[in-house]
Order: sequence, then C-alpha cells, then structure tokens
Amino acid sequence: MFENLSDKIDKALHILKGHGKITEVNVADTLKEVRRALLDADVNFKIAKEFTNSVKEKALGQKVLTSLQPGQLLVKIMRDEMAALMGSKAADISLQGNPAVVLIAGLQGSGKTTFSAKLANFLKRKKGRNPMLVAADVYRPAAIDQLKVLGEQIQVPVFAIEGNKNPVEIAQKGIEHAKTLGHNVVIVDTAGRLSVDQEMMDEIARIHRAVKPSETLFVVDAMTGQDAVNTAKAFNEVLDFDGVVLTKLDGDTRGGAALTIKATVNKPIKFVGTGEKMDAIDIFHPDRMADRILGMGDVVSLVERAQEQYNEEEARRLNKKIATNKFDFEDFFSQIQQIKKMGNVKDLMGMLPGMNKVMKNIDIDENAFKHIEAIIQSMTPQERRNPEILNGSRKKRIAMGSGRDISEVNKLIKQFEDMKKVMKIMQSGGPRGLTGLMRG
Ligand code: GDP
Repeated sequence: MFENLSDKIDKALHILKGHGKITEVNVADTLKEVRRALLDADVNFKIAKEFTNSVKEKALGQKVLTSLQPGQLLVKIMRDEMAALMGSKAADISLQGNPAVVLIAGLQGSGKTTFSAKLANFLKRKKGRNPMLVAADVYRPAAIDQLKVLGEQIQVPVFAIEGNKNPVEIAQKGIEHAKTLGHNVVIVDTAGRLSVDQEMMDEIARIHRAVKPSETLFVVDAMTGQDAVNTAKAFNEVLDFDGVVLTKLDGDTRGGAALTIKATVNKPIKFVGTGEKMDAIDIFHPDRMADRILGMGDVVSLVERAQEQYNEEEARRLNKKIATNKFDFEDFFSQIQQIKKMGNVKDLMGMLPGMNKVMKNIDIDENAFKHIEAIIQSMTPQERRNPEILNGSRKKRIAMGSGRDISEVNKLIKQFEDMKKVMKIMQSGGPRGLTGLMRG
C-alpha cells in the first residue's frame, strides 16, 4: 500500500538527515521534493501545493529550525497535516431506522458488489447486526449471482427478483421483505456503468429518493487516482453521499485518491477495501494512514487485529504448555493458523514502522507458511507432540513426505527449539510475556 509515495517522501526527508544543521533552505528543498512525490502519487497540483505551504508555515511557526530534533518535528507536522487532509478522525456510518438502509453506488468494476458483501459481513460479525443484502444491479446479470455466492459465503441472505428490471421496485420490496423477517440493516447494491452517464445518475437518484437511505456510500477504485476523484465529484453532485469507500488499496502504490478525495468533495473516506476476500475491509483512520504513508507503520491496527484473534482460553492453555516446556508442533501449527487469520503477511509486516520500505522488494505471499505447514503435516501426531523423538530417519521421512529438502526440515526444528527458549524467557518475565504483548 502506497509504497511509491512512502519511498519518495522518505528520500525527501533524507535531505534533512544528510545535513548536520537544518536551515530554511533545506526545509524548502525537502518540501519541494515532498510536493513532487505527492504529484507523482497523482495528488492534484493545488492540493499538493496547499499541503506543502501549510507544512512550511507551521514548521516555521513552531521554530523547527531551532528545535532539538528538527527532522522529527517536521515529520510530526507533516503527519498531522496529512491526517487533516484525509479528515483527521475516522468517520462512522449512520445506521438509523429499522431497518437502516445503506445504499451503495459507484462505477462498474469499482468493487461495489464485493464491498456490499464485505460490509454485511463486517456489520454482522463485528457490530452484531442482522443484515440483508439487496441485489438491485439489474443490468449485469452476473452481479446478482455474484452477490448470492458472496451472501452464501458470509451467511447473509440476499434478496433478488429474477427477471425484474426495475431497481427502485426491487429495493423497496427488499426493504419490506427485510422488515417482515426482522433484519435491522439492508444493504442495497446498485448498478454502475463504465463511466459517468446521465441515465445511471438519474436511476441512482430515483433509488435514493425512494429508499431514503440513512447512509449512502460511494465506492471507488483507489488505483484510478485522479479519475477516482473526478468520479466522486460527479456522484456527489447528484447524490450528496455520506461517505466514500476506497477499494483495491492493496494494489495502490501511489495513494493520490486517498489523499485528495476528502479535500475535493468534503466527504470522509469511511472504509477501505484491501483485497478480494470478505474480511479485507478496514475502517479508514486518517491518522493511521498518514503514519503508514510516512513510513511510521500502523502498530495500533496491528495490535487491534491481534486482539481480535486473541482467545483467552487458548492463551491460558498455551501459557501453561510453555511454562512446563510442553509447547509442541501442534501448538506451533495452530499459532500459524491464528496468524493467518489476521491477514496477509505482507500487509501485516507493512504495519511495522519502517517495514513498508523493506518489504517493497520482498515477495511474501499468502503461501508464506505453506512449506512450514507441509513439514509439520508430514509429521506423525506422536512426533508433533514429542519433537524430541525426531531422529535422522524420521526427519528424512518427513522431508520426503512434505516434498521439502532435509535441510529445511532441520532448519524448522532448530527454529522451533530456539522459539521455545525465547518463549520460556519471555514468560518468566511475567505478564509482559507473549500473551501480555497480545493484550496490548
Ligand atoms: P462492481 O462491478 O462495482 O460490483 O465490482 P465487483 O465487486 O464485481 O469488483 C470488481 C473486481 O474487483 C472483482 O474481481 C473483485 O474481486 C475485485 N475487488 C473488489 N474489491 C477489491 C479490493 O479491495 N482489492 C482487490 N485486490 N480486488 C478487489
């Protein structure tokens, strides 16, 4: 996410680090490079200029030049300005009424259908809501099937009327249906076109008038940069929507749309999509996003994700095993499954300060644990529970079974033993052990 932009800003800040003394001249040089980085990220010229001017003004006002740590102070000012540009605080969605109606609008291919299902999943799992999805994209027949498949995956019912070409009627009937079944949120997925056109705008405006949503979200593909911003403007004129959803942020290395949408349409980004899977949805936090862009990572989100997966009972069980030196390969395997649930490894690593830069050229994919898993799975249950019995011939068999090299098997066993030692040390350090860390 935003690797290119982070990289360039980092280089710009190096101008300062390279100098023993910070002067008005090299602050100006740094900010000139920052502005160039923003333009390369597809940030609109006016916004980029206003941004750097404002940072400069604040920097001089706060006596950056005479402060003890001028570089850090400048980064802090940039971070606050960047967060302000994106809206400062996370904005909630409004779910008023029973059912609360959420209308999803945007161009075709922006990720509307995927997001509709992700939102339903989010509201169900994290907010304890009882949502229903309505398939009102009547022009793309596959969209209805797509929503049904996703609905099945997340166990949320999907309302559709086969053959009906009137999205207003479908939406209204859907809401009635939800009422009778006791669903308290209805998410209406609407049709998009390839580009902004009058017919689509008229239709979405009609649906909007008819269903009176408590929240209208405009979905846009982050990778389309300034086009995303222009489309947002067009939709906002017609719909006066409440918030923006930026999808495909996982593939966006530039970040221009994220940085400029709020300043252009004065509507907050509320959610971001970071992948095709149903749990690849995040609440948008401007301050955390600014941290990430400036290479400061996003430790808060990382800890939150860890906490979501944190299971008190499991932790207690593990603690006991570690204390009695009984942590085995079965525990190790289940820990890997926990980590995998937290999300894509590269994405997680990117949340650590400075890691975005390091990770840029490293190819870690979702299969990062595949080899380790294969080796563990090739062990017998007895071997997994008693790793000390792993002798030469057993290791050879495991290597054969998993299709990995014997050296890899040895390495894993060595790493496992080292890990056990570290765990024991951390645990004897009291509540600040591994599980203490997880609790934050
Ligand atoms: P719609 O036409 O607006 O309903 O768009 P879809 O929901 O069908 O999405 C278009 C394509 O983008 C599909 O292949 C989705 O899987 C993909 N997609 C949607 N959101 C994301 C995201 O956040 N990240 C990535 N990488 N792909 C996404």
